[in-house]
Amino acid sequence: MRAVVFEKYQSAPVLTEVEKPTPGPGEVLLKVAGAGACHSDVAVFREFDKEHGPAQLRPSFVLGHESSGWVEEIGPGVGAGIEVGAAYLVYGPMGCGHCPACSRGQDTYCENAATMPHLAAGLGRDGGMAEYVAVPARNLVPLGDADPVAAAPLSDAGLTPYHAIKKSLPVLQKGGATALVIGLGGLGQLGVQIIRALTGATVIATDTKPDAMRRAEESGAVTVPGGPDQAAAIRDITGGRGVDAVFDFVGAAPTIALAMASVALQGRVTVVGIAGGTYEWGFYGVPYEVELTSTYWGTIEELHEVVALYRAGRITPDVEVFELDDALEAYRRLEAGELSGRAVVAP
Ligand code: NAD
Ligand code: ZN
Repeated sequence: MRAVVFEKYQSAPVLTEVEKPTPGPGEVLLKVAGAGACHSDVAVFREFDKEHGPAQLRPSFVLGHESSGWVEEIGPGVGAGIEVGAAYLVYGPMGCGHCPACSRGQDTYCENAATMPHLAAGLGRDGGMAEYVAVPARNLVPLGDADPVAAAPLSDAGLTPYHAIKKSLPVLQKGGATALVIGLGGLGQLGVQIIRALTGATVIATDTKPDAMRRAEESGAVTVPGGPDQAAAIRDITGGRGVDAVFDFVGAAPTIALAMASVALQGRVTVVGIAGGTYEWGFYGVPYEVELTSTYWGTIEELHEVVALYRAGRITPDVEVFELDDALEAYRRLEAGELSGRAVVAP
């Protein structure tokens, strides 16, 4: 079968022939419906090398850590309830499956992650940017009759903001609450929609690209372009108080600085983007009791909740669909910042 493979550190992936997978015990073979191209893949194939980056992300493996598909074949020992032909979303993270974190569906924080051979489907283990993918049955989330192609980004671009937003609900679910979303790409656009779906908060959003800001406005956000007065303009919208929750989908030093300059007393800043920016904290200069945190992906239980929002029409990933033959072009455009909407490869 054809697949998009991360073959070599610091080089673009390649479209090549690999062996069609066979589902092992407890696994299911999916005929891939869609696989999203996430910006984290760019870090995998551009930034890492033998010394930098997780040992589990050594080449080579098939990319695609947010994917969906139809059941083609059921491996030995899979329990009841999975039907050939049914559509599922893949929960990518794969921990040991038996530690306390995995037992509560939070494979991202697996206590045995350091000794696992991979992090996720598409991150160390073959993922969904191919004609077929084999995954453990426990990683499947049913899609029912919802469109599986547009659903693919939900498993990362939807789940990651959802997890971060849920952890911030205590500051967002109060009268007059405000949120700031920085970086309106695959994750940020869904982030805006999820805040709107879960809370009554006013959503302020920003990106360097006018087109991205226009799309966030269509989802109900108020946008503020970059510039020297940006933090002041954001504070003005909040009546001078500052924003209750900030979600930084870039994570560079200037965006973390913007987050900290915009946040309210007792507010919460979540750095989601992996640009590697740092911030010098001091007692003075930051409002009291501001929480600054990072986050990694989400739980499978939360992915069921994300799918419920999607099936109810409350969130809709904005996708640009590419054929498998054009998958490398999708990554090129992602890296160049030329996409509007999440690139989904539909083989
Ligand atoms: P993307 O390329 O689709 O979107 C990034 C957006 O940020 C673009 O619209 C871009 O114009 C905007 N941007 C870049 N620099 C900016 C700046 N200085 N100010 C404002 N906007 C700026 O990327 P994505 O796939 O949505 O991923 C976003 C980030 O989240 C990446 O760093 C990715 O690696 C990371 N990520 C983290 C997790 C996690 O679990 N923590 C999961 C998935 C992705
Ligand atoms: Zn575990």
